[in-house]
Amino acid sequence: MSYDKIEVPEQGEKITLKDGSEDELEIPDNPIIPIIYGDGVGSDVGPAAQKVLDAAADATGREINWMRIYAGESAREMYDENLPDETVEAIKEHRVAIKGPLTTPVGAGFRSLNVALRQTLDLYANVRPTYYLDGVPSPVKAPEEMDMVTFRENTEDVYAGIEWEAGTEEVEQVRDFIEDEMGFDSTIHEGPVGIGIKPITEKGSKRLVREAIDYALEQGRDKVTLVHKGNIMKFTEGQFSEWGMEVADEEYPDDEVFAAPDSLWEEQDDIDIPEGAIMVEERLADAMLQWMQLRTDEFDVLAMPNLNGDYLSDSAGAQIGGLGIAPGGNFGKGRMLAEPVHGSAPKRANQDMANPSALILSGRLMFDYMGWDDAADLVRDAVEETISSGKVTYDLERQLEDAEKLATSEYAEEVIDNIEKLS
Ligand code: NAD
Repeated sequence: MSYDKIEVPEQGEKITLKDGSEDELEIPDNPIIPIIYGDGVGSDVGPAAQKVLDAAADATGREINWMRIYAGESAREMYDENLPDETVEAIKEHRVAIKGPLTTPVGAGFRSLNVALRQTLDLYANVRPTYYLDGVPSPVKAPEEMDMVTFRENTEDVYAGIEWEAGTEEVEQVRDFIEDEMGFDSTIHEGPVGIGIKPITEKGSKRLVREAIDYALEQGRDKVTLVHKGNIMKFTEGQFSEWGMEVADEEYPDDEVFAAPDSLWEEQDDIDIPEGAIMVEERLADAMLQWMQLRTDEFDVLAMPNLNGDYLSDSAGAQIGGLGIAPGGNFGKGRMLAEPVHGSAPKRANQDMANPSALILSGRLMFDYMGWDDAADLVRDAVEETISSGKVTYDLERQLEDAEKLATSEYAEEVIDNIEKLS
């Protein structure tokens, strides 16, 4: 496809689907990869991460041909809109892309660009690996016990955005429907009300849980925990868990995946599972927030509806050092968009200050998805080596004794030096 304002690199090949497959990719050694630097600190961490990922690709005999694409402020300047069609098309066409943070303008009528991108591209699983890197300051006593991957449903639940504002005609119509037609006649208090709808579908739940189980099998993990609030929201969150258990029970042999639907109230040691199988268990979201801190090493892969995933993954991220280093990615069928957990941190923007580790490690996740395991490991090890030698950006430096504070660009150079040393 030809683009209006996007410059396609002269060199490089496109990542494509393997013949006859819906989701397996053919990855050339010189792929074209679209990149959105993003708003705010994106203009600092974007170029820094790009250089580090180039160095890891180079050290493992490959070459990335970057293709700048635009969303947010840079798109408004060039296209006069937040999310141009050709940005979405470029990601669809090239299948694997990476982005920095995008600011969500506050006020009526603005939808989150991140939500729009995830929904338009049907990137249904938001995946956040949460692991500890040596040397990172953490608020908990044993941060190294955390090695967990969260799968958060990315297209429904509160992300559906179905809600009505207090004081509008529409919200009163919905109230009348709920009270008069659906029989909840004395449930909503009188006076102004805001109402939202939380759709959880069989399709959305099952494909997310399937993705989490497949990941656990591929990565040799022991357990998938379905995290929900089904004791209160039986027909949405509870149903998510039932559908998830159906996937575990019906789509995999018992000696590979063992569904434990009665696990909610049981100690895990009391559950008898076939030797070598991974267990799919369920836990309530509120208890889970507690256990993640008290029994960190018991958890492995978590699969959750959207809002639980939002809370739990941020909280898990805090245990291993916070937003400056927390990576993530959005996965759909045969495509992925890597992005850090953090936002655009406008106060720190354009000062060569922000920590690029989260975006760099999101690139590591992208390399994993591409099957570039050696480059992925190199990125992780080089970031860890840099941080554990006490060379860090401001956010970590202020929490450490005797650390050296580096600018974003200096830190990236240090990571690149370590890539060269370790390769
Ligand atoms: P934020 O993540 O931008 O910032 C929260 C705190 O973390 C700030 O104190 C900031 O200084 C710090 N921080 C974040 N990233 C950092 C980094 N790389 N290095 C060092 N410190 C870092 O969250 P916010 O302030 O709630 O949101 C700001 C904007 O970002 C909002 O418009 C929000 O909608 C948007 N946002 C975007 C994404 C995304 O693009 N996926 C995610 C979250 C928030």
